[in-house]
Amino acid sequence: TSIKINDLLELVLKRLRPIAKKNNIELIYESYRPVIAEVDEVKLSLAFSNLIENAIKYNVEDGWVRVSLNADHKYFYVKVSDSGIGIPEEAQDSIFDRFYRVDKARSRGTGGTGLGLAITKNAVHMHKGAIKVYSKENEGTTFTVRIPINYIA
Ligand code: ATP
Ligand code: MG
Repeated sequence: TSIKINDLLELVLKRLRPIAKKNNIELIYESYRPVIAEVDEVKLSLAFSNLIENAIKYNVEDGWVRVSLNADHKYFYVKVSDSGIGIPEEAQDSIFDRFYRVDKARSRGTGGTGLGLAITKNAVHMHKGAIKVYSKENEGTTFTVRIPINYIA
C-alpha cells in the first residue's frame, strides 16, 4: 500500500523521543516535502528505528540527532546524522554484518545484539534501495538511505 513516509518517520520519532530526552539528546526532524511511496510500513519503520536508536545510543553527553526526509522524482532520501562517538574507518564495512559490534567492551553496557544494522540493510535492499555510512571517530556519523518511490512489491 501507499504510505506517507513523513507520517511513518513522525511515528518512529514519537516513539524514540522519550529515549532521546532521557539521554539528554536533542532530536531534530527536518521534512522538506511530502513523500508518498509504496513500501512495507512495518519493515521500514523498524529500519529507521534502528538507525535513530543507534544515533541516540552511540552519542555523547548533550549531543544531537538530526533526521531529514527529502525526495526527487525517483527516490526519497532519509538521512540520520549524529554528534556521537563515530565509527572507526576500518569498521565501517563490518557494521552491517550480523552480530558485529565495534567495541565489545564499549557496547556491552548499552544492550542489544548487533543485529540492528543487518536488519536495516535487509529492509532497505528489499525496497531496492541503498544505504551508506559516513563517519569520523569522535565527530559523528551520518547514515543515508535512498529508496525508489515507485517501488511495487
Ligand atoms: P542492536 O541494534 O541489535 O541493539 P547494536 O546497536 O550493537 O545492537 P547495530 O545496530 O547492528 O548493533 O550496530 C552495530 C555496531 O555499529 C554497534 O555496536 C556500534 O558499535 C556501531 N554503530 C552503529 N551505529 C552507530 C552510530 N550512529 N555511531 C557510532 N557507532 C555506531
Ligand atoms: Mg543498534
